[in-house]
Amino acid sequence: MRRRAGFAIAIPFLVLNVTHLQAQSVHADTNGPAWLLPYREPSARLIGEALGSTFAWDRLAVLTDTIGHRLSGTPALERAIQWAVAEMTRDGLENVHTERVMVPRWVRGNESAEIVEPARHSMVMLGLGNSVGTPPEGVQAEVLVVHSFEELDAQAASARGRIVFFNVPFTTYGETVRFRSAGPSRAARHGAVASLVRSVGPAGLRTPHTGGLQYAGDAPKIPAAAITAEDGDRLQRMAARKTKIVVRLRMEARFEADAESANVIGEIRGREFPDEIVVVGGHLDSWDVGTGATDDGGGCIVTWEALRIMKKLNLRPRRTVRVVLFTNEENGGRGGTAYRDTHRDELAKHVMMLESDGGVFRPVGVGFTGSDAARDTVKAIATLLSGIAADQVSPGGGGADIGPSVQEAHIPAMSLDVDGSKYFLIHHTPADTIDKIDPVEMAKCAATVAVMAFVVADLPQRLAR
Ligand SMILES: [Zn+2]
Repeated sequence: MRRRAGFAIAIPFLVLNVTHLQAQSVHADTNGPAWLLPYREPSARLIGEALGSTFAWDRLAVLTDTIGHRLSGTPALERAIQWAVAEMTRDGLENVHTERVMVPRWVRGNESAEIVEPARHSMVMLGLGNSVGTPPEGVQAEVLVVHSFEELDAQAASARGRIVFFNVPFTTYGETVRFRSAGPSRAARHGAVASLVRSVGPAGLRTPHTGGLQYAGDAPKIPAAAITAEDGDRLQRMAARKTKIVVRLRMEARFEADAESANVIGEIRGREFPDEIVVVGGHLDSWDVGTGATDDGGGCIVTWEALRIMKKLNLRPRRTVRVVLFTNEENGGRGGTAYRDTHRDELAKHVMMLESDGGVFRPVGVGFTGSDAARDTVKAIATLLSGIAADQVSPGGGGADIGPSVQEAHIPAMSLDVDGSKYFLIHHTPADTIDKIDPVEMAKCAATVAVMAFVVADLPQRLAR
């Protein structure tokens, strides 16, 4: 609600823009290719509708306040799925249904980590997703601090019987996340009894970041947890002084039997080529901390919002636009693979897939992976978003949920690109709550997805492969 005044500026600007453009001649270079012109008016309406209310933010608030976080296999995720079906139906979307997916059920249980030597200090921690637990009395051992896999290998002899702590400050997610995902097995190969990782995110206010680990097949499974940057720094200082550090880790983490879950689907059926499909979506599951507002409730709502707005404005594109709320992205990716398998016969008719899983902060445009010809078309469409400064097209579109389908059928892929400065501060933490999300920025995200999805679905000729 902080930037409510933004509406007053944005909407008259758009209206002016449209009126101005409609007065231009068809072939004016500054207005882009002739095929784009008919899309100026509907795009302005889509943007105006998205920015004309806080509907998306309000809907995300209902999801995150009344259901909360949504880990795979929990009743909360099932409630979210049923809620989404009911709300999509109420929006007037078509072909609303669920598609069954069996998902892993990892249970965190109680957990704690404390320094017991040289002085007792309780650390703020989160067990890593898919970790095994400790014996009930915990695992207590001396800590070995390392800063890279190379350093661990060089000190292999001192890792035996220790708790290995990977203290690697955050640079980018891609660079740093490997210590969370692969670190435990790397440490276990050298005989470590447990593994700690500095939270994968910029230093926050003593906030731990969870996230999945992947055990290698050739190493014992040892329990693993993330600790905060502040506690990591404390261990680091003591290690530098050659102080003996002993930590006790207790985790009840375990797997239970796979549970039934589902992807949620809703559509605006195409008026000319209903068998050709543009997919937009995010993942409805989340980690079991915070409320999964940014990761990825927001992505679900802004992609779904694209269809709600089209329906409300009675804009029915030539091809079908389908929203998919995928299940189990965080600790299994089974929603994405199930979608590919369930829809294998129609993947060739998927025109484009867009995923929003990078937050719903101020949008800057889209990432796109596809042919040069398709990129030219997408760049022209993006100019329709210049009024909200979301007109960039960068390389590398895609996402974990659409990935399996995109790779199998070489489908042009998009991701919603937003200001990424805040995402990793709250990603996978107890601080992933809706108060970090601005209603106007979120409305602009919905507008960006709506314009992209609508125009790609309506193009006179199918988007090039
Ligand atoms: Zn996510």
